[in-house]
Amino acid sequence: MALIVQKYGGTSVGNPERIKNVARKVAKFQAQGHKVVVVVSAMSGETNRLIALTKEVATHPDARELDVVVSTGEQVTIGLLCMALHDIGVKAKSYTGGQVRILTDSAHTKARILNIDEAPIKKDLDEGNIVVVAGFQGVDEHGNITTLGRGGSDTTGVALAAALKADECQIYTDVDGVYTTDPRVVPEARKLDTITFEEMLELASLGSKVLQIRSVEFAGKYKVKLRVLSSFQEEGEGTLITVEEDQNMEQPVISGIAFTRDEAKLTVLGVPDKPGIAYQILGPVADANIDVDMIIQNIGHDGTTDFSFTIPRGELDKTVKVLETVRAHIGARAIEADKTMAKVSVVGVGMRSHPGVASKMFRTLAEEGINIQMISTSEIKISVVIEEKYLELAVRVLHKAFGLESA
Ligand code: ADP
Ligand code: ASP
Ligand code: MG
Repeated sequence: MALIVQKYGGTSVGNPERIKNVARKVAKFQAQGHKVVVVVSAMSGETNRLIALTKEVATHPDARELDVVVSTGEQVTIGLLCMALHDIGVKAKSYTGGQVRILTDSAHTKARILNIDEAPIKKDLDEGNIVVVAGFQGVDEHGNITTLGRGGSDTTGVALAAALKADECQIYTDVDGVYTTDPRVVPEARKLDTITFEEMLELASLGSKVLQIRSVEFAGKYKVKLRVLSSFQEEGEGTLITVEEDQNMEQPVISGIAFTRDEAKLTVLGVPDKPGIAYQILGPVADANIDVDMIIQNIGHDGTTDFSFTIPRGELDKTVKVLETVRAHIGARAIEADKTMAKVSVVGVGMRSHPGVASKMFRTLAEEGINIQMISTSEIKISVVIEEKYLELAVRVLHKAFGLESA
């Protein structure tokens, strides 16, 4: 007998029929003798709908109240799933994040889980219940409702699995595992049987939303056995996220390609080329809580230089405002904003022992006439910033060039 935490995403609980399907799946596991804790997301589209509602009543919705509103999506699903389970004769009890007590810090809309009180869940399981917990939400030490950031139900699932020392955390979604890239963009993408934590962390942080990055971090830290599977298929092993690289097999050089569309690039032109300038530009940007990703400072001419960096597109107006003040202060010539940028990244632990990945990537993009505007690398990834209109083409040709379709 095993203790399993299963998380079902928005599409998997997207309508009453699908909720009943989840109930049947969960009941089947219990009938096999397992103890099951289920984490559910809001029904698909619901979180977006709730966020849109808040924007209709306020220009800048208060973060505490935003969490009060968006956390309701998951509360509906837990109740509905329990009713569906009762309807097929299965004992089940639902809990919101605050009821479990999933204690978080107070960073509304992006809170971090600090502690989970697992004793009441264990008691319910021992009494033969399926325990259904709302994903994406918690409560801070003052009793305020918090949420964990978009895609946060994955993290709830993994955190519960860690707290309960579950045998496995299964993430059920609308694809049957982790693919070499988003199968909606490249139909030839191939499902991976395993992927290392390191690679999954990179893919998640570089834009593959199949797992929220924090869930992967959490699983790595607490050694949770993590698997991604389809909620619509009865069979299949999905993708197992592994700690060890499989020693028996030669590692592929590239395991996957990730991408993000919502990038913007800012360039401060004619910056005095002297010590302290990068700090004078990026200090105020950081103080405004804006995440800077790639940075390039060009070679100076005549005592001035150009300084470029990328930020999430949604932060563009705010960043331009900050930079206008900075520009006047440091005496730079102008600010240029480009809001239609995208980032493509190739990821693979095999890169460590195989030189030439960067040149192959750059050649492939050059052959399609795609201009690379910025580059950044780490031991296991290479990212480039390109114009958004070339994104899908870039992902497709790179997927082919690195031979990701074939086994
Ligand atoms: P859920 O609602 O179940 O949490 P998400 O929409 O958050 O589902 O994540 C699943 C989606 O992630 C897939 O439908 C797919 O389009 C996308 N995705 C992006 N990159 C990958 C990848 N490398 N492998 C599989 N799915 C991916
Ligand atoms: N419902 C939340 C979202 O859409 C959390 C999740 O689905 O994981 O981001
Ligand atoms: Mg998700």
